[in-house]
Amino acid sequence: MAKLIFEMSSEGRKGYTLPKLQVPEKKVSSLISEKFIRKNFARLPQVSENEALRHFIELSRLNHHIDKGFYPLGSCTMKYNPKINEDAANNPGLNSLHPMQSEELSQGALSLMYELAEYLKEISGLKEVTLQPAAGAHGELAGLMLIRAYHENQGNPRENILIPDSAHGTNPASVTIAGYKSVQIKSDENGLVDLEDLKKHLDENTAALMLTNPSTLGIFETQLQEINELLENVGALLYMDGANLNALLGIVRPGDIGVDVLHFNLHKTFSTPHGGGGPGAGPVGVSDKLIDFLPVPKIKKEKDTFKLEYNVPKSIGRIHSFYGNFSVLVRAYVYIRMLGSKGLKRVSENAIINANYLKERLINHFQLPYKSTPMHEFVFSGSKLKEKGVSTLDLAKRLLDYGFHAPTIYFPLIVNEAIMIEPTETETKETLDKFADTMIQITTEIEENPDIVRNAPHKTPVSRLDEVKAIKEPDIRFQFKKVTG
Ligand SMILES: *Cc1c(COP(=O)(O)O)cnc(C)c1O
Repeated sequence: MAKLIFEMSSEGRKGYTLPKLQVPEKKVSSLISEKFIRKNFARLPQVSENEALRHFIELSRLNHHIDKGFYPLGSCTMKYNPKINEDAANNPGLNSLHPMQSEELSQGALSLMYELAEYLKEISGLKEVTLQPAAGAHGELAGLMLIRAYHENQGNPRENILIPDSAHGTNPASVTIAGYKSVQIKSDENGLVDLEDLKKHLDENTAALMLTNPSTLGIFETQLQEINELLENVGALLYMDGANLNALLGIVRPGDIGVDVLHFNLHKTFSTPHGGGGPGAGPVGVSDKLIDFLPVPKIKKEKDTFKLEYNVPKSIGRIHSFYGNFSVLVRAYVYIRMLGSKGLKRVSENAIINANYLKERLINHFQLPYKSTPMHEFVFSGSKLKEKGVSTLDLAKRLLDYGFHAPTIYFPLIVNEAIMIEPTETETKETLDKFADTMIQITTEIEENPDIVRNAPHKTPVSRLDEVKAIKEPDIRFQFKKVTG
């Protein structure tokens, strides 16, 4: 059905007109060395503006995205992103600003970043925030570098970071890149940190505990007082993975419950379109202990002027060129300003209510292995379906036929046949009901005609792919089969 844009090309057709030249015409060869000049024209597609537009609209229709349908991808917070954010990020005064521009001429951008950091401090209860990291995982790395710098300053960087088995998968990867060893801590039957196991592994060689909170089970860790005492006894720090902060806004401030380092995922919690590799922003907030080590440059306010400060002797240095992904910072700033403190709290309340509503609607049809009340997401097990010869993967693929994005599956690893659902706060009850009805309908299909689920999807542009082959030998010229329905 859909053609490649190259296949639509027609010699001489074009969708642009260039203005008359206002300078004397020169030959390209007088401007560029001969060896860099093409011998033949690039074979670019020659199409009209109309064709180009339709082509890309058609492609966007073949794909799934949040502007098209429900996207309950657990741990990813695929919520609706207000379009006003895009307007603000596209403001020429912001998006045409060159990062090498002088401080004097960048006061608007600097004040926006300064204020955003102030808001994040207020939201998190932490003492200072850097906006530089470009993603959640980058924030983790920056946070771990701060932890290392802190311990080094005390005379010993230590060797281990403890990570519960319900943590996000990027945590152990970041730990390794930061030169630490990750040591896994078990969860108890409620999905909380198993304190006995924590005690067993905690010692003077522990640099920090790295806690995803709420965990990837969507469960809030309630034993922080005990955990903090244990950490303090050995001089270890508490890192909190705050990518799931959309469960906590206005309800819990990590800085108030003993957290030393926290990364935010602005692109998730504070609404930037994300997925497919970015862009993102993963600011890091720290407690008093770690302020001296934050990256440079820092944005300082002196009277009404904003300055960049580079002279910070104990700083870990730069971790991104310039100040990070500025346009994501603009979106987060607008989102926070637009909602205010009451609005942000409602974000979290709605995220939690939506998740719990959906969980209740489905609980008689799937297994909930960890019984604690979830926050913004929950994890079912598809193990009962497996007994009928249908896997979680089959269920996920069948959901695509009904126009839903699949939940996150097979993660977290501690749940067999995991189905991780995060509805987010931006969905209506009607959408949640439609999704729940569809999930239940698929369980009926599994009873009556399991093959239709096993062979799904049937209505998407491509059917079930060999996913390993698709990654290792991508065939970008595959034939689209007819889209039915
Ligand atoms: C998404 C996520 C991350 C990683 O964030 P990226 O921006 O994708 O690097 C880390 N931790 C948790 C809990 C997450 O949900």
